[in-house]
Amino acid sequence: MPDLKQFKCPACGGVLEFTSATQEIKCPYCDSSFTRADFADLDKDLDVAYVEKEKDPMIEELYSGEDLKDMSVYTCESCGGEIICGKNTTSTKCPYCDNNVLIKSKISGDLKPKLIIPFKLDKEQSNNSFKEYFKKKFFIPGSFKKTNKIEESSSLYVPYFIYTANTDGDVTFEGKITRRWEDSNYEYKEESFYRLDRSGDIAFDDIPVDASERMPNDLMESIEPFNKSDHEPFFSGYLAGFQAERYDTSKSKTLARAHERMIQGTIAALQTSTTRYEDVHATSHHINFSRESSQYVLYPIWILNVKRKENKYTFAVNGDTGKVAGKYPISAPKVILVCTLIALAAGGLGFGLGYLIMEGDLFYALLMGVILLLIGGVVSAIAITKKLKKRVSLQYGAKNYVRENSYHLTYSKDTFLYKKVSKRSKPKSSNKR
Ligand SMILES: [Zn+2]
Ligand SMILES: [Zn+2]
Repeated sequence: MPDLKQFKCPACGGVLEFTSATQEIKCPYCDSSFTRADFADLDKDLDVAYVEKEKDPMIEELYSGEDLKDMSVYTCESCGGEIICGKNTTSTKCPYCDNNVLIKSKISGDLKPKLIIPFKLDKEQSNNSFKEYFKKKFFIPGSFKKTNKIEESSSLYVPYFIYTANTDGDVTFEGKITRRWEDSNYEYKEESFYRLDRSGDIAFDDIPVDASERMPNDLMESIEPFNKSDHEPFFSGYLAGFQAERYDTSKSKTLARAHERMIQGTIAALQTSTTRYEDVHATSHHINFSRESSQYVLYPIWILNVKRKENKYTFAVNGDTGKVAGKYPISAPKVILVCTLIALAAGGLGFGLGYLIMEGDLFYALLMGVILLLIGGVVSAIAITKKLKKRVSLQYGAKNYVRENSYHLTYSKDTFLYKKVSKRSKPKSSNKR
């Protein structure tokens, strides 16, 4: 059926494959290799939307079952076998003859990507990145480090929209300045609160938003960034031998996510001008967007399914940079051990300090030891939980995508609001006995 486009070797007719190591298109049969310059006309027929021909009624009837409603069926031109793939698949393999094919109706016209980053890591390199990442993660259970098995490792060109825009806006922050002093009886604390009005502009380039409903957005954002300099104009030859999908998330949904990150990024940039204040937080903002543009791109990602006992874990490896992310299991005993050690160290320090400050008074030393022990335990538990939550998370802001020298602070005004003075009696350090 003409809906499929095959990658055939011009020399022998063999099945071509893209090789990440050399960035060439290779024929494993006659050992020829080609670059994209050798296939200047390969994608000409993708500029105009290809309309799917009517399906073979025999095939339709065969695969009309509910379980196949999200699937598409094609007939391989090389061997006549049936290629069954997801409804968003744009590039795949014939399971019978290994023929690499493009599904033209899903990658032509408006569905033709503008840019692509070809795979830089092959399967072995991506598995190695994963193993290195595992070695460095202390809180993974020891048994998991030993017994985990990469059950499946599959490559996928994931559809993204990348967004570029200028923003300008006004943000109001609140912050405070604290002053402390003491006299012979009291310790004083004065907190002065300020309203900080800031205006400015900044530009962001190519913020990526995952446009595949199937891929978890937090996992995809956790393996950012991709190397901007690796963007190339789209070339279908890079897909030969790899799975690829078309976007199925609406443009308005992806744009909303890009705007959210640009707003956060603008607030974060303006906040850099408030460093002399503490506890700075934005209380209101008004951000405008201008000169907005977006492009449809394909990014290379390895998906690793890892099995341990009955549980399955999914990891993603950035096929451009090798960055790894995934919700790995956590060893509770290791977390408890670390928190206990930190708590004991804090407690010991508290006891020592208490002993010194209170001139050898054991009761105060013990009291301070216990207080610091508790604080150490709670603080370390919170810090570790926070860190572990970030294994996979949506990214805040867009600091990787700020255009060089684009940030300008155009207005800045600090207004004193009110102050709060508190005092407390000094502890009676001189315990006269
Ligand atoms: Zn060949
Ligand atoms: Zn085939």
